[in-house]
Amino acid sequence: MTETSSPPLFDSAQLRDLFDALPDGIFLLDPATSNVLYCNRAAHEDLGYQADEILGHSVLSLQKDVTGLPAWELIAAEIRKAKPFVFVGRHRHKLGHEVSVEVCTNTFCLGEREYFLSSARDISLRVMQEAAMLERDAHVRFALNEASDGLWDWKIPTQEVFFSPQLKRMLGYGPHEMTPTLESWSANLHPDDKPRVLLVLEQHIKGQRERFDAQYRLKNRNGHYLWVNDRGRFCERDATGQPLRVVGMVQNITDQKTLELQLMRQASHDSLTGLRNRGDSEATLQNLVGTCRRLSVPLGVCMFDLDHFKHINDVHGHLVGDQVLVRAAERLLGLLRSTDSLFRWGGEEFLLLCPGSGATALLQLLDKLRKGLASEQWADLVGTDSITASFGAAVMPDHGDTPTALLLSADTALYRAKAAGRNQVVMASAEDCASSGLTAMSRD
Ligand code: GH3
Ligand code: MG
Ligand code: MG
Repeated sequence: MTETSSPPLFDSAQLRDLFDALPDGIFLLDPATSNVLYCNRAAHEDLGYQADEILGHSVLSLQKDVTGLPAWELIAAEIRKAKPFVFVGRHRHKLGHEVSVEVCTNTFCLGEREYFLSSARDISLRVMQEAAMLERDAHVRFALNEASDGLWDWKIPTQEVFFSPQLKRMLGYGPHEMTPTLESWSANLHPDDKPRVLLVLEQHIKGQRERFDAQYRLKNRNGHYLWVNDRGRFCERDATGQPLRVVGMVQNITDQKTLELQLMRQASHDSLTGLRNRGDSEATLQNLVGTCRRLSVPLGVCMFDLDHFKHINDVHGHLVGDQVLVRAAERLLGLLRSTDSLFRWGGEEFLLLCPGSGATALLQLLDKLRKGLASEQWADLVGTDSITASFGAAVMPDHGDTPTALLLSADTALYRAKAAGRNQVVMASAEDCASSGLTAMSRD
């Protein structure tokens, strides 16, 4: 070996200085008694002792978590097995407080004698930071729980879902009920919402949506539906980028949603008959004209009006008149197909839209309505009077291909039905179509 590659040689005093320069405490221990045979400067300074004071101590007197020689013997056995043996514990400071330490111990022999050599690192700061983090974590979890009505945590590979106790409570279940599976949730989605909600979730999993965000109805234990606002996001992915875990929070929005739906209903429905109102009919007619035109199918439109209704009001009073309107609407609704839409146009006038119905089908349906109304029993309300209506019909494309043209054609036909003696159905003609603008205006 050349001189430059030789390690520097230290005498024992220099070695002692080297050890004293170490930031961690170093203890040389007697394995039999745990007595401190030697320690460096950091070791005694960290515990508030002078160098000579600490030599009277042992692991038993310094380490709070090792109580009694039998406990030390067990630890000593572990130290001999594991190299090194790592122990996180609490040292006793001379002033009485605790010092959190991570002690790393190796065993070695000098001649015949066995020794333990430990390095002790003060981890007080780390422990404090961890405690603060745990506390912060607990606060965050508390805040999340309080800010929502429930949390869920879905592990995609195992399909396991954690439902928070609050979420279970919201749905009427106890903390130990609800199997932790996706099925427990998806089986309770409202059938009308399910396809949409599952699609939004799938799009999020596939990365097509930033987050899962949906408002939908969820069945509770009693079979009633709650409206919920559900927002989730994946928080773990595997090496290939596939999401492994999605977490979310649920808010019970039943009250606000019910109010919102009520307001929407009020805006689009007539409060007396419950039928959709004129405002709603305009948007629907506009849409149906577009759809039927695109699909090249006819659109049947009918305006109808109760006959001599003023007379009913005059003879029986306005309240009875109201009841007649309600019952007439119910009776007519019951005769319609699911694709037909009936609206209260105003007063005792109604609008009926029948997508897919040409002249023949529309006339058949309207005749059924006319007869159904005429045969209704009104004895309890208006004595023996029968109540009839007059119907004016038009079909797209024969009598117009815009909402305005169709309404004018139907209205003109209605005028002709009234003029011809009432209680009848009249289909618009080509002449009605041509002159409908004038005729309709003259009726008003
Ligand atoms: P016609 O056969 O020509 O249609 O005669 P009519 O009496 O039905 O028509 P008219 O337009 O003269 O009168 C309609 C009446 O409908 C007048 C109005 O007071 C009544 N009416 C409108 N809306 C309501 C309502 O909401 N409730 C009640 N009870 N009556 C209403
Ligand atoms: Mg009338
Ligand atoms: Mg009228």
